[in-house]
Amino acid sequence: MLYIVPTPIGNLQDITLRALEVLKTADAVLCEDTRRTQILLSHFGISKPTYRYNENDPRSVARCLEALKGGKTCALVSDCGTPCISDPGWRLVKEAVEAGIKVSSLPGPSAVACALAGAGITGGAFTFLGFLPRKAGKAAKLIAAAYALNHPVVVYESPYRVVKMLELIAKTLGDDTPVIAARELSKVYEEWLRGTAAGLARELGKKSKVQGEFVLIIDRPAEPEREKENEPDPYF
Ligand code: SAM
Repeated sequence: MLYIVPTPIGNLQDITLRALEVLKTADAVLCEDTRRTQILLSHFGISKPTYRYNENDPRSVARCLEALKGGKTCALVSDCGTPCISDPGWRLVKEAVEAGIKVSSLPGPSAVACALAGAGITGGAFTFLGFLPRKAGKAAKLIAAAYALNHPVVVYESPYRVVKMLELIAKTLGDDTPVIAARELSKVYEEWLRGTAAGLARELGKKSKVQGEFVLIIDRPAEPEREKENEPDPYF
């Protein structure tokens, strides 16, 4: 049995009761980084064998799969949030499903859901792009294509590249494109920056050092109500 176990994205109190129960009762914990997971397990007084799961090493995937096929109950975790969401895990899940192993995915912390809920801009569709490619041209193409779907677009970004990413969004979609930057979610310095792509790039660019993890939500400019009402419905 394979359990996918989300872990906190900053606040240890966000671990769920069920996640703790699974971590306590599993035979082994498969981790992105065993040292980081050991810190989490020790905090909750859990002593459990941990094994590194390396998505890019077929031998690592095979070893984990063998343990599951041998009847072991394994809990898959990543360094933070939900495994398989811009994190390792999907390959093992795919192979486990194909091998007929039971997979259970626990609900829990994930930065994309947390940021989108707090943004207050949609309760419906959105496009999640995760981390964009390093090459500006490729990233710009993806942003433009996703934005053309008329939904908010969500990207993950590190503090080292967030200003460059905001500049790229401004260049690709326009300086005045509304953006919400959710920083350090669930942590002491949680912050919500609401502005335009160019404005936020300037604001963060002024800092000597940008710190913290970011979720960027690219919104659409508000449409005048009257125009919306008069829009012809293509289906009637
Ligand atoms: N699996 C994780 C999830 O479910 O959200 C994502 C892991 S990904 C390697 C790390 C990225 O998630 C960060 O670079 C940042 O964009 C986002 N992230 C993680 N924790 C965050 C936090 N506390 N506040 C804002 N963004 C966060």
